Amino acid sequence: MPEREMIVPPWWPEAAQAAEGLTEELTRLRRHFHQHPELSHQERRTAAAVAAYLTKLGLEVKTGIAGHGVVGRLMGATPGRTVAWRADMDALPLTEELEVPWRSKNAGVMHACGHDFHLAIALGAAALLSRFRDRLSGEIRFLFQPAEEGPPQGPDSGALGMVRAGVLDNPRVDAIFGLHVAPTLDVGQVRYCPEVVMAGSEHLILTVTGQVAHGATPHKGVDPILAAAQTLVLLKSALAQEVDSRQPFVLTFGRIAGGNRFNILADRVVLEGSLRFLSPGVRERVLAAVRRHLAGLAKATGARLELATQGIYPILKNDARLAERAVRILKECLGARRVTAHQPAMGSEDFAYFAQEVPAFYFFLGVRTPGTRGQALHAPDFNPDEAALPLGLKAAAALLLGTGAIGFR
Ligand SMILES: [Zn+2]
Ligand SMILES: [Zn+2]
Repeated sequence: MPEREMIVPPWWPEAAQAAEGLTEELTRLRRHFHQHPELSHQERRTAAAVAAYLTKLGLEVKTGIAGHGVVGRLMGATPGRTVAWRADMDALPLTEELEVPWRSKNAGVMHACGHDFHLAIALGAAALLSRFRDRLSGEIRFLFQPAEEGPPQGPDSGALGMVRAGVLDNPRVDAIFGLHVAPTLDVGQVRYCPEVVMAGSEHLILTVTGQVAHGATPHKGVDPILAAAQTLVLLKSALAQEVDSRQPFVLTFGRIAGGNRFNILADRVVLEGSLRFLSPGVRERVLAAVRRHLAGLAKATGARLELATQGIYPILKNDARLAERAVRILKECLGARRVTAHQPAMGSEDFAYFAQEVPAFYFFLGVRTPGTRGQALHAPDFNPDEAALPLGLKAAAALLLGTGAIGFR
């Protein structure tokens, strides 16, 4: 027995070198997907390109899962564990501001969340690891997921749809991995959270119904715009007192609509927002408090205030034991100085649905050009640095090998 347990195969250096050799291919793939972005639920061409690529590599390919989802199975030479890698495929309704040769050719649609990177890295990992098929045991399953950006169209779309379609079964996946590009982290770095990674979130719809009257005689009606304004101010101040201040949550409203004319009291106002939280108990407490305050406001204003919730994303949590092993693998294969721990983020990610089912590890790949400010995700000038692609591929390969070929328990 070696003194230290081996966590990646002894031929890792050979695989790492082969990964370096795929740098141009990764860039080519990324630019292809960047030029041809497709919105959530419409990833038809993307899925076809993915399926063709995987088929050419000799993987077993299934398409049309939860919409345009694709699964590729790379079968090793001997039986063993099943590990999975997930990449999301959809783009956003934005007009790209960058003048680059690989600018989006689909007007008004842009890969502004880095899913073009995710696609390239996952296909690169399939290309790389298929070359080592003879030395692999078990199965490496690549999940290409549609409609991450949502909103989900019912339980049969996005990550939840793929889970319900059985992509984690037959045989059951022992561990699943995924990454997201991080524009606030330099190229050459990855970061992770030991347990909670991203917030759970819930889409809230608040309907405030009043009673129409002439603008000159508001006493004859009920003004829902005024009630909505009072609601926002009250919730912002009151909720701060409802939950232990060490347990983070955030409630923001991003849309408000209502009214017909400047001199008529509106009939109703609809507000839409999101509640984000890092522990499930906080969600219950905040929603209970919101409902209590709404009841009070209804009495005070005479308006009807109805709260509906929809589209819950679960909290994204890494499996603590798998994360510990994953971090060891990343440090050993990429170099310890490249790997840092980080606080959970208040954003949400539907990878959480996979993580609810099987042990999962989700982490972040730096794509900021060192010395620059970097751009935000979902911004029309988002320009992640392609120099990050080879490190993303190495990280993916190391994790899949380190937990698949040898087993992670
Ligand atoms: Zn996004
Ligand atoms: Zn994203």
